[in-house]
Formats: sequence, C-alpha cells, structure tokens
Amino acid sequence: MAIGVGGALHLMGYQVLSTAMMFHNLGLFLLVLSLLDQEINLGEYLVRVVALVIIWAMHHAGHFDRPQFIVSLVLLAIALVFIRRFSSTIRFTPIISMAVFAYIAMSFWLLLPDISAGVHVTTPIAWEAIGMQVAMAIVATNFWIAQHRSAEHTDELAQLANYDMLTNAKTYSTYERDLVARLAEARTQGAPLTLAALDIDHFKQINDEYGHLAGNAVLMGVATTLGKILARDHHGAQIYRTGGEEFNILFPGQTPAEVLKIVRDCWHTIRISRFSYEDFDIKVTISIGVTALQPDDDIESLYKRADDNLYQSKHNGRDVITIEGQTQNASTGKPVYATYTYFTQQIVDASAPGMPVVSNELLLRRYDYEHDRWIVPERFDVSAQTQVGMIRDILPKLKPQRLNVNLSLEQFASDKTAAAFSELMQSADAPEALAIELPQMPQIETLKAMGPRYHAADIAIYIDDVGSDNHYDEVQSVLDYFDGMKYAVQNMRRADNGTRNMDQRLAFWAQVAQEHHLRFIIEGIESKADVRWAQQQFGARYLQGYYFDRP
Ligand code: GH3
Ligand code: MG
Ligand code: MG
Repeated sequence: MAIGVGGALHLMGYQVLSTAMMFHNLGLFLLVLSLLDQEINLGEYLVRVVALVIIWAMHHAGHFDRPQFIVSLVLLAIALVFIRRFSSTIRFTPIISMAVFAYIAMSFWLLLPDISAGVHVTTPIAWEAIGMQVAMAIVATNFWIAQHRSAEHTDELAQLANYDMLTNAKTYSTYERDLVARLAEARTQGAPLTLAALDIDHFKQINDEYGHLAGNAVLMGVATTLGKILARDHHGAQIYRTGGEEFNILFPGQTPAEVLKIVRDCWHTIRISRFSYEDFDIKVTISIGVTALQPDDDIESLYKRADDNLYQSKHNGRDVITIEGQTQNASTGKPVYATYTYFTQQIVDASAPGMPVVSNELLLRRYDYEHDRWIVPERFDVSAQTQVGMIRDILPKLKPQRLNVNLSLEQFASDKTAAAFSELMQSADAPEALAIELPQMPQIETLKAMGPRYHAADIAIYIDDVGSDNHYDEVQSVLDYFDGMKYAVQNMRRADNGTRNMDQRLAFWAQVAQEHHLRFIIEGIESKADVRWAQQQFGARYLQGYYFDRP
C-alpha cells in the first residue's frame, strides 16, 4: 500500500505542476514511513528500499552525472542503515523521528537539479518541503506512541485476566474456558486428553509454621517449578491454579500412560526442592490424581474424577500419585521398609572465607511408623563392624573426607570398636580424619585405658554437649583426655533457660575449651542471626546446624 500510494503521489506530481512539490513530498514521506514498519524482515525492507531508490533517482533523471546525485544517494544509504538498525527508537522518540525525516528531506530536496520531474525547485520550495516532512513526522510519531501505549495496556489486561497474580499460573476461569475447548478438540479429533489434579500436602502447616508470606513464596516456587518442567516437555501441557494450593494440568493429545513420566517428574522435583523464604528452607510434597477423558464425560465429570483420584492420594497417606484409582508408589514402585538410616551433617569453619567444611558428623535416625516420620533412635547399639561399614559407605561421598562419629559408652569401652576403628585408620581408604563424640562421660579408668588407644590410631575424642548433659565438676579432671567439645544450642533452647543464662554458660565453656586447647564446636545453628551471635559473642570458629546443612 505504502509503495503504491507513495509511487502514485509522485506520478501525480508530474501531472499537477502547480502543487507538484506537495505530491512528491507526500510520496517521499509514505515511502520512508513504510521503512519504519515494525517486524519487517530484511527481504521486505529491501523491497521498500528499492522502491524508494527508484523514485529518488527518477527525480535526478537527465542529471545523473551531477556530483549532488551521488552525494544524495550516499546520504540516503546512511539513513537506510540507521533506520534498519534503530527503527523502534525512531518510532517512539519524537525528536529522533523528526531529525531522521528532516535529514532525509534535506538530502532529497536540497540536492535536486533545478528542474526536477518537470518542477522548478527553488530554495524556498525545498525548505517548505523539509518543514512539511518534519510536521508529518511529529504526527506519525505521536500516533505510534499512543498506539503502543494502548497495546501495552491491552496486554496488561490480558495478563491480569488470564494469569494468577501470585503464581503466574493460568487462572481458574481460563481453566474452565480451556477445558471446554480442549474437550471439544479431543472429541472432534478422536484424540486422548488427560487431566492431573495436584494439591500441596499439609500446606496449612507451612502457613502456621513459617507464616503466610512464606506460604506464598512456596506457592510461587511450586508453580514456577511445575511450569518449567511442563515447558521443557514441549507437549503443550498447561498448568492452572484452580484453588489456594491446588493446581490442575491439562495434557491435550496424551493418555495417562504417556504423561506418567512427566507427572512423576513433577512429583519428584517438588519433593527434592527447597523453597527458600528469608532464612527458611522449606520442603513440601504434593499429592496428584490423574484421569483420562472418557467417551461420555462432560467437563464436570472429568474434573470430578481427577479430584477423586487426588482425594485417594491424600487418603493413602499423601505424597503419592493416583492414576484411575491406582495409587502408585511413585518413587520405586515398591513400598519403603527401611527402619534405620544414616547421613552426615557438616561442621564448618566460620572464620574462613566461604565457611569451608572441616568435618562431617555421622548421624542415625529410626523410622517411627506410628507417627510417619524419622526420629532420633532411643538406642544406638550398632556393632563396630556396622559403624565401620557405614563410614566406608559414606566416605566417598564426602568432601573433605573427615568424619565425626558418635559412640555410646559401651562402644567406646569395647576392644572390638577400638580395634575396628584403628584398622580402618590404617587401611588404604581411611578417612582423612576421624573423631569420636561421647555423649556420656566415661569412667576415668575407661578414659585412661581407651583414650591412648584411640589417640594412637590418630582418632580424636570429643565430649558431645557440655551445655546440657555434662557438668564442669564432672569433666574438669578428665579434660586432658579430650581433643574437643561440643555445645548444643538446640538442647539449651528447648530447656526453658533464658538466653542470658545460655550466653553465660556458652562463654564459660568456650573459655574452658580455650584454656585446655580443645576444639570447640557450637551446634544447633539455625539461622544467619545464630551465626552472627556465635561469632560476635564468643568468637566461635566451628559451627554446625540446619543453617549450613539439613539432613
Ligand atoms: P492436605 O494435605 O489435606 O491438602 O492439607 P492442607 O493443609 O494442604 O489442605 P487444606 O485445604 O486444609 O488447607 C489449605 C491451606 O492453604 C489453607 C489456606 O490458608 C492455605 N492457602 C490457600 N491459598 C493460599 C495462598 O494464596 N497463600 C497462602 N500462604 N496460603 C494459602
Ligand atoms: Mg493441601
Ligand atoms: Mg487444598
């Protein structure tokens, strides 16, 4: 259109001699304007350039040997490169747009031969034409700006209407609309359609424990994580927030068997993710119900069946996937029967940059089936062989390969344990360092007998928790048998001592440790504030706790 109208106006300029400048000028304006169209590719751009250059050259017909012709073409070429490169800046900045049109008009009008296209081009006429170009540029730019704003506003409204503000998942009303459309599509194409309903488990507890804002952060995190997984899959699945902490996913063209892998991926990824809010690292699980579109379904019956499957997942203990009434054990396909487990928790050097790990404490947990959770076992009587087995098993996964291991009094006093540990320390795959922690104070005779044996094998001995379990008068005489002591802040927090009391005690023990050259570890560090407190109040160097590492 622009090329047609622009060209026609120029041609009319040949006919209507008295107002010829107007027509040529309008034609020039339209041709330049068309170069500023948004989203034209290079091919389209070049077509417009060719049209402009032809008409440009026609005005120099009979005078191609004048240097002004070449100069005007060079100036035009510069403008063309500039326009291609900065078209959107030109469109939306009135001053630049005016400058560009003025530049082109001057390159055109001031370098024409005296008689061009049958018109006598005087200097006043040329400047009139240039002024007119600038005026038209102002109008065009303002129009573009207004149009751009209104388009942005429309986009914003669409975003508000279709996407949930908090999670950026699509809204419930979009869900209803899309479900109707996908269902109709599936019917006409005879294609499958699968619907998954997801709900965060025990979400109320998250709100209660960490606050509503933390709950919001978790919701956002869950929605973003799920959105990413679906986008990666490229099968056109869509996620909708259909309730407070409930989401639905529509899988057009796919059967439940086909979506199982990605549904498991969703379930698993959420399970292993940690959603952070302030100092908290929050873990959540989701329950999922999956169903396929049936021949006599309407949207209600389909939705209800997905929800029933979800309900069955909840009923079967949550954190599982139910597909068409079959609750899966999504992790392994087998139920979990482990009763004991072990893991390590890092001990860091808070005085060094980046707080490097200096050791790892080996810890045990027992599964409490009644309450459905892992707890600290009442007894730790694991054989020396098993202890060494656990150490060997976990060691390759550690960095650095330094371990702290807890021993009961009987274990500490047993020849078997001392022998097994000494042998471990002499073997080729020995840990870089091994320390044993004693939660209870042995008899002095036991210490005298066993202490040197462990020390001879290069094994350090720590008193575990001087804060609550061990009293100064009991330990002062045997301190020389030890290499370190631990102070458990979490135990003190639990007992209802005032913090002031705790600070005093901690300072006391830190002092004792310093006097006896014992490594002093504060455990139970749960936040950045705890780290600051331990460092500033007690100059504490070795720290351990959930802030650094959570089992
Ligand atoms: P279940 O495992 O049975 O699903 O337990 P639940 O606690 O997750 O389920 P319930 O439906 O009892 O509680 C859902 C909670 O989600 C209650 C409500 O306060 C909370 N919730 C809903 N919408 C939001 C939200 O936008 N932000 C936050 N922070 N919480 C929300
Ligand atoms: Mg829930
Ligand atoms: Mg719910």
